[in-house]
Amino acid sequence: MAMTARDPVCGMMVDPAEAPAKSEHQGRTYYFCAPGCKQAFDREPEKYVQPRRRCCG
Ligand SMILES: [Zn+2]
Repeated sequence: MAMTARDPVCGMMVDPAEAPAKSEHQGRTYYFCAPGCKQAFDREPEKYVQPRRRCCG
């Protein structure tokens, strides 16, 4: 099974080996499907890194 990571901005599954963008936040590395998602994350990481997942918005 290939390693995958979830793009915290848009929710897409991303292959870390092929992710076009990544960012580190509080010691964790996050991978993004596109540079635009990374920019959104870098702007407001707290908005995307939440301890609880909001359901079904
Ligand atoms: Zn994305």
